[in-house]
Amino acid sequence: MSVLLTNISELATVHAPSSGRKPGTAMNDLGIIRNAAMLVEERILWVGTQRQAEKRFAAFPGLARYDCGGRAIIPGFVDSHTHIVFAGSRADEFALRLRGVSYQEIAARGGGIMATVRATRAASEEELFVSAQTRIIEALRHGTTTLEVKSGYGLSLEAELKLLRVIERLQRELPVRIVATLLGAHAIPPDAASREDYIEMLCTELIPEVARNGLATFCDVFADVGYFTTAEAERILAAGLDWDLQPKIHADEFADVGAARLAISIGAASADHLLHIAPETIPEFARWRTVATLLPGTAYTLRLPMPPARALIDAGATVALATDCNPGSCRTENMQTIISLATQLAGMTLEEAITAATLHGAAALLREHEIGSLDVGKYADFIVLDSPSVLDLAYHFGTNRVAEVWIGGKRVVSNDVPQIEFPPSSPSP
Ligand SMILES: [Zn+2]
Repeated sequence: MSVLLTNISELATVHAPSSGRKPGTAMNDLGIIRNAAMLVEERILWVGTQRQAEKRFAAFPGLARYDCGGRAIIPGFVDSHTHIVFAGSRADEFALRLRGVSYQEIAARGGGIMATVRATRAASEEELFVSAQTRIIEALRHGTTTLEVKSGYGLSLEAELKLLRVIERLQRELPVRIVATLLGAHAIPPDAASREDYIEMLCTELIPEVARNGLATFCDVFADVGYFTTAEAERILAAGLDWDLQPKIHADEFADVGAARLAISIGAASADHLLHIAPETIPEFARWRTVATLLPGTAYTLRLPMPPARALIDAGATVALATDCNPGSCRTENMQTIISLATQLAGMTLEEAITAATLHGAAALLREHEIGSLDVGKYADFIVLDSPSVLDLAYHFGTNRVAEVWIGGKRVVSNDVPQIEFPPSSPSP
C-alpha cells in the first residue's frame, strides 16, 4: 500500500547521480528539500515539496497519509563494516589498554582476536544468533537499515561455516538488510598445521564451500603487520574472485603494507581503516571505484590517530563511514557516534559524514543503485529524526536522535514510545 509522508521539515535525499556516488566535495550536497513530502511503497515512488504533493495527490483522498510532525528525514544508515556476530566480551582487555598495554601486546599474550575465536568456537549457533540479534536491534534503534556482517571468529572450515549460517539466519529473521562477508583471513589460528596449510584450506575448501552455498557476497582479508601479507591477501582475494566473491580489504590499519594499493589494483569494493595509508596512494582513490571506508570508532577506542578523512575527500575519494562493531577494538553499534567522531575528530563536515554513512556505505557494498539515498526507485529505507534539522545529528551528541526507522516502506522502529514509568510521586531527594 502506498503511504504519503507529509510535513517533513527537511528531507535530506542525499540525491545520487547516475554513477551512484558523490566523491570528493560533492559529498557536501545532501539534496535537501524543505517542507517536503514523499510517497513510498516498498520503494520510493515520488519526492517533492508539500505544496507539490497537495496539488498532485489531492485527487486521491483515500491515499494513506503519515504526518511526520515537522521533523527531518535522512536515508537509513548503511553500516558497511561490522563483526557483530561473536561470543564473549573483551572488556578486561579494554581495561588493560586503559592502563597502557597495546593491542598488539594483548594479542601476543593470547588475547585479541584469538580470545574471541575461542569463545565463538565454543558457542552454539543459537547462542551466537541470540547475542547478535540483540546487537543488531541496538543498531536498528540507532538508525542502521543495512548492515554488513563478517565471519572471522571461527578460523576453521567448520567454525567459519557456522558463523555464516548464523548470519544467514539473521538475514532471514530480522527486518534489517544484511550483507554477508567471509573473513576467514582474519588471523592465522595457532592450531593451524602451518601458515601455508591454513591459506590453502581457505582458497581450496572454505571459499568454494561458501560460494556454492551462497553464504557470502564478499571475501575480506586482514592485510597488516602480524596478520596477512599483501601477497597472501592477493592470493586469497583472487581465489574468492574465482568464485564470484567480491574483494574487500582491512588495509593499512597498523602500518603501511601497501594494502590500499592492492585494493585499488584488484578493484576491491572497499579498502577499510587506512590509518597508515601511504600519502601517494591517496589520490589513486579518485581514479578508481574502490571506496575508502573509514572506521573512526576503532581509532578512538585504540587511541590511534584518526583516519585521513580530509586528505581523502579533498583528493576526490569516495569515502564511507562504518562502525567496525567488534568485541576488541570498537564496541559500538551506533552510527550516530561514528558521525560524531568523524565530524569532531577527523575533520569531516556533517554533510560529508551523512553521505559517507549512507550512500557511500551502500557503494562499499556495491548496492548504491538500490539503497543509500532517497531517490525514486530505491528502497524506502529512511530515518525520521527527532528534530526539524539534520544538523542536530552531530550538534546534539551522545544520545539517540532517531525517532523512527522505516525499511522497505514500513515503520520498523518507533523510539517515541515512552519507556519510563513515572512513579505516582517523585522520590525524596
Ligand atoms: Zn574489521
